[in-house]
Amino acid sequence: MSVLQTLQERSKNTCELCTATKGSSQYTIPPSLNENIDNSLLVCKTCLDQIEGNTEMDANHWRCLNDSMWSEHVAVQIMAWRMLQRLRNEGWPKDLLDMMYLDDKALALARATGEHEDEANKIIHRDVNGIILQAGDSVVLVKDLKVKGSSMVAKQGTAVRNIRLDHENAEYIEGKVDNQQIVIITKYVKKL
Ligand SMILES: [Zn+2]
Repeated sequence: MSVLQTLQERSKNTCELCTATKGSSQYTIPPSLNENIDNSLLVCKTCLDQIEGNTEMDANHWRCLNDSMWSEHVAVQIMAWRMLQRLRNEGWPKDLLDMMYLDDKALALARATGEHEDEANKIIHRDVNGIILQAGDSVVLVKDLKVKGSSMVAKQGTAVRNIRLDHENAEYIEGKVDNQQIVIITKYVKKL
């Protein structure tokens, strides 16, 4: 029996994540090279599109993991873990993750694509009030700033439009003041 046939049989042809009965296909968990029943599962198109990032994540759809995370099949557990990690900022997925148990081998595969690291390692720039800054935002200086390497002082209250983020360091952004591109420390700006 092929892997696909085994999966169809064990799942009775339903999506092993959300139990949808239509359009299920075999999904082998990347970066696995050889498909087998421990790294493959049957998923519907709705799940697959979101797993592969072809459509936006619909957090509500993934409430189904509440049940499927307890599957006896390790491939289903691994995908549930990965999707919960992606959705972690929603709150409830984190609670489910805390209850989950994967053995070492399963955990190694679950982590292989760095799903769990995305948020933790992401550099997030925040203004003086903790508001998240994004490239292209406008900010205002909340204190006078001496500009390094020049006699210029950027005055408190100066608006800086179309900021750029320093992707190595969450404390720095860049923007133009008096036509000069300067580095500004995030704790001295407020988002407009
Ligand atoms: Zn599904």
